Amino acid sequence: MPVDVLVLGAGMVGTCTALQLTRRGHTVALVDRRSPGRETSYGNAGIIQREAVEPYAFPREWSAVFDVAFKRGIDVNYHFSALPEVLPRLARYWHASAPARYAPIAQAYSRLIEHCLTEHEALIAESGASDLVRKEGYLHVFRTPAAIEEAAARAARLATEYGVSHALLDGEALARAEPGLRQRLAGALHWLDPWSVSDPGALVARYAKRFEALGGQLIEGDAASLRAVGGGWQVQMAGGPLSARHAVVALGPWADALIAPLGYRLPLFVKRGYHRHYRGGPGLNLPLLDAERGLVLAPMAQGIRITTGAEFARIGAPATPVQLDKAEAAAREILDLPNPVEAEPWVGNRPCTADMKPVIGPAPKHPGLWFNFGHAHQGFTLGPASGRLMADMIEGRAPFIDPTPYSASRF
Ligand SMILES: Cc1cc2nc3c(=O)[nH]c(=O)nc-3n(C[C@H](O)[C@H](O)[C@H](O)COP(=O)(O)OP(=O)(O)OC[C@H]3O[C@@H](n4cnc5c(N)ncnc54)[C@H](O)[C@@H]3O)c2cc1C
Repeated sequence: MPVDVLVLGAGMVGTCTALQLTRRGHTVALVDRRSPGRETSYGNAGIIQREAVEPYAFPREWSAVFDVAFKRGIDVNYHFSALPEVLPRLARYWHASAPARYAPIAQAYSRLIEHCLTEHEALIAESGASDLVRKEGYLHVFRTPAAIEEAAARAARLATEYGVSHALLDGEALARAEPGLRQRLAGALHWLDPWSVSDPGALVARYAKRFEALGGQLIEGDAASLRAVGGGWQVQMAGGPLSARHAVVALGPWADALIAPLGYRLPLFVKRGYHRHYRGGPGLNLPLLDAERGLVLAPMAQGIRITTGAEFARIGAPATPVQLDKAEAAAREILDLPNPVEAEPWVGNRPCTADMKPVIGPAPKHPGLWFNFGHAHQGFTLGPASGRLMADMIEGRAPFIDPTPYSASRF
């Protein structure tokens, strides 16, 4: 039986796209080679980042660029073997991060992210997932007064320009809020709006269950089998071909592998990230970004999850968890982390674009094919809003926000 829409990829973005369409009465098949939410959408820090109104820019100060080039910080690493492929795209990323070009990018980004809580809220409620969600914000902690002053000035600007709220904690207030910290730090910025999730993969799985309860079909299959057939699209399943009028590419980091053979040369790349859990010790009440070191400590169902910054490497290249080793040492300066849970760290790939905005909209050269990928550092946050925008466009109804900034044609 043909369906209305095939959604390829059951990460946060694809699952939310499928769910948003099913809620509106469309027949949808959600196709993945794994269970929903087992890749990037499993391994992240689990923060629904309402405060992330400005996307993650490439540093513009030369000192910071040299820190990256010479791998001085914890937050960035790269593989030499990946450079020939990734450098031209990073050059475009750097170019897009110049203040005059970055300002409209941030404006567009903020218009999507401002819907992240309301869109998640609706899906959380109907999926019965509120037990996974903590609505108490998260902390950026600082080790030096100079760093907290700089962050406070930026937070005040974001409050004025975008209405996101925060509170400043001095060292004493931070110690009261997080009694497990073993060091008196300079203080913290408490972002009040964001939510955090104790098991990111489980939230995607709950959304997928809701999708099935509404009649959606969850199907194991390989998106690479996608073909244009008779004015629509078809994928091969174990039980035979499945056809639809529309197909949505929501393959996150693997989108390029599908669309490049179709003739699309978009400036996509990945920033790999690592995590590992630790059990025992006093734990944390809220996720905490150690801003000067470049790591996140997130209290999860499996223990405290340390997540790392960006590694420029090919998808599937052997793991080089040097950042995680350094992050673990930096984390242990502030929190007891007695027992690592996994023998090997998890590694995943943030799906990035050179201009920091996701790609959401029609595939320019193929009627009925749609793109929804490239959500970089905030795909867990943006899945439901991005899925709603995609559903609006597929239905041909007035989109709830202007989709122009996310069009694939912009490249
Ligand atoms: C360390 C780290 C921390 C992060 N922290 C946060 C955070 O706190 N908040 C936040 O908002 N974001 C965070 N992110 C980013 C976020 O995780 C990603 O942006 C998001 O998960 C991307 O979702 P996605 O659905 O596009 O991709 P994915 O979750 O990777 O889903 C893609 C899916 O496609 C499937 N697939 C691929 N190829 C095929 C194929 N050929 N056939 C069938 N299926 C296929 C995969 O199996 C997978 O299920 C973090 C990322 C990392 C790495």
